Amino acid sequence: MILILLGPPGAGKGTQAARLVARLGLAQLATGDMLRAAIASATPLGKKVKAILDAGKLVDDALVLEMIRNRLGDPDCKNGAILDGFPRTLIQAEGLDRMLADMGRGVTHVIQIKVDEGVLTDRITGRATAAGSESVRSDDTREVLEKRLAVYHDQTQPIIPYYAEKGVLRVVDGMQSIDEVAAAIDGIIGK
Ligand code: AMP
Repeated sequence: MILILLGPPGAGKGTQAARLVARLGLAQLATGDMLRAAIASATPLGKKVKAILDAGKLVDDALVLEMIRNRLGDPDCKNGAILDGFPRTLIQAEGLDRMLADMGRGVTHVIQIKVDEGVLTDRITGRATAAGSESVRSDDTREVLEKRLAVYHDQTQPIIPYYAEKGVLRVVDGMQSIDEVAAAIDGIIGK
């Protein structure tokens, strides 16, 4: 099963992905986490992308596609994977489809977590405060968040009709409690 969680920053993708991983034994492939790990260990990739993440922009499509390609072949992805924060552009979505087709696989469900964007700023700046100063994401500031939301609208939202046309798009109301969103997702995937 290949599951894509789609939604703006702060929609709850990471929370829901972590829960599904624990329950279904799928791998969680979160490109944002991978990029932050590269930055934290100051790898050449990390040095290259740090300024891009700090500015709330997107890194190269080819780069994230390669990261996903490398991970999808790993043994922990045998039962399937949850893609969290990827794809984020039409080019990434098309690249993913080609990659999966080469592997004899395909996207099972794309779950769009729909939220009222008015609450996102508070949710995310709240995430920064709750995490404590050591683990605050450097892109969880009001200013960068506005950029990330604009990028979401311009570059990521166009993949919604792409998946709707393929008949794999499902929408859940992300304004519900974490447990209610989780139940809605369970209903969609039938587990
Ligand atoms: P996230 O943790 O998913 O919110 O991602 C944090 C940041 O990492 C984003 O604002 C982008 O700069 C970068 N990033 C994560 N995933 C992608 C992706 N699929 N394509 C391009 N940039 C990404």
